[in-house]
Amino acid sequence: MEIDKTLKRLEEGLAHWNIALDKVQRERFRRLTQLLLEWNERLSLTSITEPERIAIEHYLDSVAPLAFNLIGEETAVVDVGTGAGFPGLPLAIMCPKVSFTLVDATRKKVTYLQSVCSELGLTNVEVVWGRAEELAHQKAFREGFDVAVARAFGALDIVWECTIPFVKIGGIAIAYKGPKVDEELEIGKLTAPLVGGKVETVHKFILPTSELRRTLVIARKVESTHHRFPRRPGIPEKRPLRSLIKDKNAA
Ligand code: SAH
Repeated sequence: MEIDKTLKRLEEGLAHWNIALDKVQRERFRRLTQLLLEWNERLSLTSITEPERIAIEHYLDSVAPLAFNLIGEETAVVDVGTGAGFPGLPLAIMCPKVSFTLVDATRKKVTYLQSVCSELGLTNVEVVWGRAEELAHQKAFREGFDVAVARAFGALDIVWECTIPFVKIGGIAIAYKGPKVDEELEIGKLTAPLVGGKVETVHKFILPTSELRRTLVIARKVESTHHRFPRRPGIPEKRPLRSLIKDKNAA
């Protein structure tokens, strides 16, 4: 069956990182794949539908932080702009003792994610509908997480403004990037301090069993984020942090 190909490919990839799936995890990835493909016909959740590409480009890519020991046990993780649940859902399947908060601004995706969590029995996941710029100011969320993750959310400075406010001092934000990270890395390093972060590590790697190059950029939260950040919805993208730095230099 098609879904067996996804599972086989995922397990091959994970084996390169010395990670094995237990029975519950395997069953959850199987059911997740079914639901993703089923709902995708109505909701256009993803353009990636071939079984092996789902395994590598969604599942293996999502769990890459585990290969670098970036997510510990019994911590709290927020996934900002999770879309169809990436990287949040595969991470939540792999780490049942970690509590995950999946955030997305699109209602229909949130409905899908809630349905998936109940079907999979993922009790360690909460799904929240909203904009990062607003949620990050709410008491329940601000500086309330050990780790924030974001994939395909935008340039690094946009990612930092929308993730680092969620992170506790001492925690980290993880930006999932492709191969062409170098050109924005400088901006990423310069802007992280504006929201209390410091780029600490850049992990470049190839997704096992593929030729796909990926980068994880890690920013450590070193001080509290000023209450003006994140700015109002849409502003982090419209006037990204890099423009504040330029303004400062011009003044
Ligand atoms: N992380 C997923 C989806 C990336 S697409 C993946 O890698 O596959 C970006 C997603 O972020 C979309 O689902 C969009 O609805 C959501 N999004 C964009 N801006 C947002 C914001 N300010 N707050 C919350 N979600 C946002």
